[in-house]
Amino acid sequence: MFEQTGVATREMVMEKFPPIERINKGPVAVVECYQKIPCNPCQTACPFGAIQIGEDINEIPRRDEAVCTGCGVCVAKCPGLSIMIVDGSKSPDTVEFRIPYEFLPLPAAGERVVGLDRAGEPICAATVKKVMNPPAFDRTPVITLEVERKYLYEFRNFRREAEARG
Ligand code: SF4
Ligand code: SF4
Repeated sequence: MFEQTGVATREMVMEKFPPIERINKGPVAVVECYQKIPCNPCQTACPFGAIQIGEDINEIPRRDEAVCTGCGVCVAKCPGLSIMIVDGSKSPDTVEFRIPYEFLPLPAAGERVVGLDRAGEPICAATVKKVMNPPAFDRTPVITLEVERKYLYEFRNFRREAEARG
């Protein structure tokens, strides 16, 4: 199915998420890299050695959730926009995501946006908490969003309300 649609199945997604206990402790990277490709900026970018690919650059990256601090350095460095940070420590009702977002115009903090699933379908409302776009991110802004906790494993992207209205 993934081969035809490019959309990861729930089973594939769950394999990339750390246990909920780890998510509830604080921010941690979810590395949704599913195919063997010659790529390793995630590994070289991580200042803590939390992402390992190994000697074969084609191998799929493995993130050690015990080592990952959730610093987010890897998010903007992944050319495939495959990495996000999840943080369940802020509230029992919501989770925070930090995701790469390359569409313009960028949203503003406080803006309500439409949360999308991995197929790009609207699933929920989300609130933009922070927009980061420093030169070091090399034109891959990273957006922090607050989303209802029940969408933890579905939320993957967003679109602005203005875009939704066309
Ligand atoms: S969030 Fe920080 S510590 Fe975790 S894998 Fe990415 S760069 Fe490494
Ligand atoms: S940088 Fe992104 S696309 Fe490349 S191996 Fe790492 S997670 Fe996969």
